[in-house]
Amino acid sequence: MASIGFIGLGNMGIPMALNLQNAGHEVRGFDVSDGARGAAREKGLQIAESNADAARNADTVILMLPDGPIVEAVAAEVLGAMEKGALLIDCSTIDVATARKVHEQGDAAGILCLDAPVSGGVVGAEAGSLTFMVGGSDAAFEKGEPLFDIMGNRGVHCGEGGAGQAAKICNNMLLGVSMIGACEAFALAEKLGLSQAALFDVVSTSSGSCWSVNTYCPVPGVGPQSPADNAYKPGFAAALMLKDLGLSQQAADDCDAATPLGRHATDLYAAMVEAGKGGADFSGIIEYIQSNSRKALAS
Ligand code: NAD
Repeated sequence: MASIGFIGLGNMGIPMALNLQNAGHEVRGFDVSDGARGAAREKGLQIAESNADAARNADTVILMLPDGPIVEAVAAEVLGAMEKGALLIDCSTIDVATARKVHEQGDAAGILCLDAPVSGGVVGAEAGSLTFMVGGSDAAFEKGEPLFDIMGNRGVHCGEGGAGQAAKICNNMLLGVSMIGACEAFALAEKLGLSQAALFDVVSTSSGSCWSVNTYCPVPGVGPQSPADNAYKPGFAAALMLKDLGLSQQAADDCDAATPLGRHATDLYAAMVEAGKGGADFSGIIEYIQSNSRKALAS
């Protein structure tokens, strides 16, 4: 059984750490927030004295943190405390450039590194059914894979350092765009007097079918159960979608990739969040679209 340091005991981190502990691994966690440490302790996790203390003597250190600057700062704290040959897995969603920087710093310190952002949200973290999109060397992936199998259903090795973050933001940019497309189609159908159920029946078995319609339909009472049937309680919050779209646009700027719809989706989710709906599920953008005139959303 491995000894694991788990840093970032938030909504995702606590259930992921608990799944590793329940599988028999020795887990010691840390978080800068007193509240997070208290909640983790209450659920039976051992708490270290600091980030560096959680990393000391660990075979693997896992990070589940809010953003790139925090990951970079915490990586600097833990890399020096880790044994050579140990593994650092960053499961946070962060920018590709910082992920690559952490890989370089890990290489210099003799530490194996993986960037491994997840899809599946808090429900997937609790159920141990996350998907991990993983970047790093074959040796690092081989060492991390058994842990991905515990915390999730699958670890997909996408390529070298940064490839996991690249896969995550490309997927989520497509998801943001496709959700807005689905919402526009249902909003137009309503104004044309076409029933939402009829549109679902056609689209879900036609060339417009996609996950945003077939599995996660943004209209209540249509298709399988989704956040739309629960007053748009997330699910996947619009604020997190905006974060990922922002990362996609930052990466696109860095490598001069044209993403006009990705940019437009970012603007629309920014407007939804500014309207005070950042805590609603991202499919709730249908209400923002329905409540605006054609002229208001013209540009
Ligand atoms: P969260 O805010 O609930 O947890 C992050 C934790 O990191 C907090 O408890 C915070 O106190 C801690 N932290 C901040 N700075 C720290 C530091 N310097 N040292 C130690 N701990 C520190 O966030 P979350 O919802 O658990 O998400 C974590 C990551 O997973 C994010 O990058 C997010 O984008 C990604 N993600 C979240 C979801 C989701 O549905 N929540 C889904 C997919 C991916």
